[in-house]
Amino acid sequence: MLQMAGNLVFRCSYDGDIAMFCLPNGSSFDGMCDVVRSKFTNLANGSFEIKYVLPGADPCVLCNDDDMSFMFAFFSVSGCEYVELIVRNTCSPVTESAIIIPDVDPEFNPFIDVDIVDNSSGKVFLCEAWKGCITHVQQRFPGGVSDFRNQLGKFCIAMGVEVEFKKNHRNRVTAVCSRSVDEGCKWFVHAVLRRSDGSFVIKKLVNEHTCTGRFMGRKTKMTRSKVVASVIADKMESEPNMAAKDVVKSMKRDYGITVPYWNAWNAKEMAWREIHGDDDKSYRDLVRYVDMLQQTNPGTRCFLEVEPQTYRLCRIFVAIGGCINGFMRCRPIIFVDATFLKSKFKGTLMAATAINGDGGIVV
Ligand SMILES: [Zn+2]
Repeated sequence: MLQMAGNLVFRCSYDGDIAMFCLPNGSSFDGMCDVVRSKFTNLANGSFEIKYVLPGADPCVLCNDDDMSFMFAFFSVSGCEYVELIVRNTCSPVTESAIIIPDVDPEFNPFIDVDIVDNSSGKVFLCEAWKGCITHVQQRFPGGVSDFRNQLGKFCIAMGVEVEFKKNHRNRVTAVCSRSVDEGCKWFVHAVLRRSDGSFVIKKLVNEHTCTGRFMGRKTKMTRSKVVASVIADKMESEPNMAAKDVVKSMKRDYGITVPYWNAWNAKEMAWREIHGDDDKSYRDLVRYVDMLQQTNPGTRCFLEVEPQTYRLCRIFVAIGGCINGFMRCRPIIFVDATFLKSKFKGTLMAATAINGDGGIVV
């Protein structure tokens, strides 16, 4: 047993990543949650569950200090080298066990058809610049595997070629030209994760296509909604009301790429989440938000009403404690205004204001 003065060693897996840490005997459940949150990103307070693996039995849920006491008592005498922990994000729609590391990113779908418009008119499209997305060994992609895949997708569109993934893992990606067998094309890239900063780095590259794999004027599988989303994200910041049909027009006009409507819609949703956050997650977090408001702002009044059968949000009322005190010192007239919510979930946002003794507005 790898124990140090009553410590237990934990091997914790979440979303394909592993972290090791020690905790002293008698540690609280909250202490365990703090350590787990510090090891992985995207884990908010109360948004995940922890299970530990008992040898020869199903994983047990860790919920409170009693569970912690039992776990320490059991593993202190079990002779195991470490305790296996499985962390699952309960806000994520992904239901697979976090201990399974998929060989292919389930979100990655290169099989989305796009047309590359024949550039016979001589117009130079913006995607010409994407030929410089993959250039040399030791080229770094700060955004990790997702960044690398996006740049590779853009490079293939610009070069008019398709590639096949021999390995497509979050830690390493190997791709060859799709004509490597038919025409003996030697184009090849191998990139790996640099753990020190989370970036992706090209380790091997043969950056010359000797094939005739041009697909200009016909469909290709070498792009996906994420590539389109990364292209339109900047534009959506200045044009937040951009519709899917505007994305289709923009991609065709500026990049010479015909994107099917539903791929454009999907890309628009991804870009929106990138800029403004996930609407679904924001609504799911309302319960915790109300709890935190009441814990951290004394005197706060919150009411959250949902449909009993579906748990669908009906209405929420929030009055921050400090604002309630402020209203007590205002002139005895309350103004109520409302605006329509135009995002994915419609509704009406109402706000109350009043005027204080200095003529200032209190919200
Ligand atoms: Zn090739």
